[in-house]
Amino acid sequence: MKMLIGGVLIDSTETFPVINPATETVIGSAPQCSREMLDTAFSAAQSAFADWSKDINVRRDVLTACAAAMRDNADELARLVTQEQGKPLAKAQREIGGAARWFEYTAELDLPVESISVPGQRRAEIHRRPLGVVAAIIPWNYPVMTAAWKIAPALLAGNTVVLKPSPYTPLATLKLGEILRPHVPEGVLNIVTGGDELGVWMTAHKTPRKIAFTGSTDAGKSVAAAAATDLKRVTLELGGNDPAIVLADADPKMVAKGIFTAAFENSGQVCVAIKRVYLPDNLYDSVLEEMVSLAKDVNLGDGLNDSVDMGPVNNRAQFERVLELIEDARKNGGAVVTGGKRKGDVGFFIEPTIITGLADDSRLVAEEQFGPALPILRYTEIDDALARANAGNFGLAGSVWGSDGDRAAEVAGKLNCGTAWVNQHLAITPQAPIAGHKWSGIGIENGPLGLLQYTDIQIVEVAETQTATA
Ligand code: NAD
Repeated sequence: MKMLIGGVLIDSTETFPVINPATETVIGSAPQCSREMLDTAFSAAQSAFADWSKDINVRRDVLTACAAAMRDNADELARLVTQEQGKPLAKAQREIGGAARWFEYTAELDLPVESISVPGQRRAEIHRRPLGVVAAIIPWNYPVMTAAWKIAPALLAGNTVVLKPSPYTPLATLKLGEILRPHVPEGVLNIVTGGDELGVWMTAHKTPRKIAFTGSTDAGKSVAAAAATDLKRVTLELGGNDPAIVLADADPKMVAKGIFTAAFENSGQVCVAIKRVYLPDNLYDSVLEEMVSLAKDVNLGDGLNDSVDMGPVNNRAQFERVLELIEDARKNGGAVVTGGKRKGDVGFFIEPTIITGLADDSRLVAEEQFGPALPILRYTEIDDALARANAGNFGLAGSVWGSDGDRAAEVAGKLNCGTAWVNQHLAITPQAPIAGHKWSGIGIENGPLGLLQYTDIQIVEVAETQTATA
């Protein structure tokens, strides 16, 4: 598969292999972008900027055409996502449909011009101007969706883009470039592939005026440091350790199902998956029992197989990390109530795992596991549960579950995180912004506020009469 640079599909003499996490076999290869190729991509994006930034209606039409092209090619894209990422095919199809929806939604947004009142015979307006070239860097859990979250708003705002997928999941994104190429003017969208070092080159490059990054907190800090030297704008969507708090009046069966789904979606590899659960004394046994029974029903396997509900962990490093966290939990007094081990001896499959009895400072509770292993914790007083949920450096999302929605919303408002859900979790829509607190990020993605992150403001202030002095 080829990179998209300056409207041309480009190969490289050097390539790197892509592994199917379900079979551990090589399913393809991706070009290794050299520094020279990256320079070409950035200069193509820079050259395309002047024309592209002129007319929002042209950009709307392009985004709409891109959405249609994604829908037309959804089967092929979804198959690639399943093969390189691991999720079941039906979920990969949903990812492509979601990405197309993001383009359609974004195409309808406006860049508002706001009038402000200033003293004297003057009028003033705030305009939103595009930034220039955006360097977009994305992770491996939702390769097409996370690409859409960056490409659509960056382009609608009038910027041009150079995007790099994760080295674990480059194929669907390269295919996306090929599919979108006939609909996007030359140089407006460029897709380059390579390892982490390519991301480092992108953030250090003189051309981009913004880095839009989704990935781990550690890499996000490096990105922020690199961007600071050139005062590039940044949006960082980083890790999370989302708590779910169940209130004493909740319906155990419904809550167990909702929490289980949001914890094990995409094998737990979602930035806003539930990663810790706080159960009240009165519901501890019933919710736990229900969740264990749901875990036992999961059909874990190769996502290309129709009957599978959950796929493997995406890559060997992540697979080993999740198994290590489970082992650490075992050694430190945790009780593995279900799962707890690899399934089979080929593929990065980990059984859906539920662990109880852990201390708050144990690694599985305090760190982001990003995999199918969930700690269940017990509480007596709600203030104690809230304090424990708010401890730590992450603040992406959280949820509170209970029969009295108003009471649950009141408790949810006390969570220190960017999104506080009530009786739901992972309810992501294009309309609602995502904005992590603390180490979970800087800036906003999605919705009208996310769009504005791809602009700088310009104040246009006009004197009603010409005067010789200020
Ligand atoms: P990662 O940080 O290892 O890699 C993400 C991307 O950054 C990849 O393309 C990688 O090649 C590149 N990269 C790595 N180091 C870099 C550096 N120093 N400079 C520039 N680019 C660099 O993350 P991952 O393992 O691919 O993804 C998992 C992480 O992503 C989890 O922590 C998860 O929570 C987070 N994530 C967050 C969101 C969100 O919206 N908040 C969404 C999805 C994933």
